[in-house]
Amino acid sequence: MGLSDNHYNRGLGRDAPKFKLWRSAGLMLTYKCNAACEFCYYHCGPDKGGLMPVETCLAAWRSLRTLAGNEARIHLTGGEPFLYWDHLVEILREGRRQNLGPVDLIETNGFWATEEQLIAGRLSTLAALGMQRLKISVDPFHQEYVDIEPVRALAAAAKRLLGPDRVLVRWEKYLRGEGVSPLDVARASWPCSFVAWASSPGSIGRMPMPQDAGETPTTRKGGTPSPREKMYIEAYRDYPFRFSGRAARQLAQLIIDAGSLMIEKEASDPISIHQSSIINHPCLSGFLGAKGVHIDPYGNVFSGTCSGIILGNINQTPLEEIWENFDPRRSGLVGTLCARGPHGLLEPAQALGYQARPAYADKCHLCTHIRQFLFEHGQDASVLGPRDCYA
Ligand code: SF4
Ligand code: SF4
Repeated sequence: MGLSDNHYNRGLGRDAPKFKLWRSAGLMLTYKCNAACEFCYYHCGPDKGGLMPVETCLAAWRSLRTLAGNEARIHLTGGEPFLYWDHLVEILREGRRQNLGPVDLIETNGFWATEEQLIAGRLSTLAALGMQRLKISVDPFHQEYVDIEPVRALAAAAKRLLGPDRVLVRWEKYLRGEGVSPLDVARASWPCSFVAWASSPGSIGRMPMPQDAGETPTTRKGGTPSPREKMYIEAYRDYPFRFSGRAARQLAQLIIDAGSLMIEKEASDPISIHQSSIINHPCLSGFLGAKGVHIDPYGNVFSGTCSGIILGNINQTPLEEIWENFDPRRSGLVGTLCARGPHGLLEPAQALGYQARPAYADKCHLCTHIRQFLFEHGQDASVLGPRDCYA
């Protein structure tokens, strides 16, 4: 397909920024995860659900090839895709049988990698079925839920068996044990049952949470940060992330309180978001330039990592048609975000009773916070969802 197949692009002048062809799709097999990382964009966790049917995966995969040809890049993610190992293998097998090309990347937090034989067996199965690269998540947020030792074993085995170029570790420094040390904090303050749970593969029921130890890690109002809060702040300083999904909850406030972000409070203003980086920041270029999409287990399509903003559903409309029909000038929530950014949602939300916060960590924090309110009040129901993405 070409750029002019999109309705919006056709009416544009030569030099105007065009809506790019999507070349990558992250297929979220599930929202379920053994972890519930404080910064998860998709709000995944043990209590979440969904499992993308094999045929939905294959349809998305075929559509992406229609859009991007041989440049199509599929990655399989979650939630934690290894919770559904047999399903994962079936998807790869079917993709191979239908000559859909290799899967570029499979993402895991490595919780399952507790035995050498199991690791070697799974890696060789994935390699034989065409997986190009394995991405392993390692950072203080993940390591609150996943013991670092299985993750180290997985990374070492993957580098040995697949070759170092085919293994992405985010982030190596934590794998090496440098920087903040989450497990020391976690082990020191959480009940033994939690550490035992996090180490046991296949445990996908409700897990013990920090709260079970009587701790609410990010609900502090002022005062000195706890060790866990310091760990979050350090981790954010190492590798900043956007405040969408779960990160837009207490974590955003923690980072604001920690002064890691330069947000000035203006006394005359009911909200301190009136700063140029948030107020004058339309999302148009983000939507137009997104390299790809995420598709959730129910078929919902999100631009890039803008979780919970549905551009279409591949169970109703093929992905290539969703791309063809996308027009940022349309009215509605996506049109407002493109034209004005999340600040454009503020006034209508306030008219419905939305209470603005004293400060926002970034524009995605503002966006997520307002959307949470709108979702809870049944607004823009065709665009805001699914429930798994909202608290
Ligand atoms: S960030 Fe990854 S490992 Fe953590 S809860 Fe989300 S999906 Fe699970
Ligand atoms: S403000 Fe909203 S629409 Fe814009 S990039 Fe952030 S999450 Fe996406």
